[in-house]
Amino acid sequence: MGDQAMLTNIMTYFIKNPEDILQPACLALDHFRRVFLNEQRVKIQVRFYNLETITAIEGVRADKIGNFVSIKGVVLKTFPVRLLVTRMKFKCFECKREI
Ligand SMILES: [Zn+2]
Repeated sequence: MGDQAMLTNIMTYFIKNPEDILQPACLALDHFRRVFLNEQRVKIQVRFYNLETITAIEGVRADKIGNFVSIKGVVLKTFPVRLLVTRMKFKCFECKREI
């Protein structure tokens, strides 16, 4: 297998299983910083950029859950995250039963 084919296989695996690579990469970087640079432990988040596969924002759908997606664009406006309540329980004050 050539280098390019191996790189393509790794990229394909990474896109489908990002946590298998991101988590060990964070641990390795943290270990390197503490052991070789004698630095304090801090939470490290490893992220990749400039991936060849770029997903259009319209293409981000439920089938991409758990996958790594790379999006290119300009952020025009941001809003705070708001929760969407899909189920809610109520309790009666008098008899304490859940409604
Ligand atoms: Zn009641």
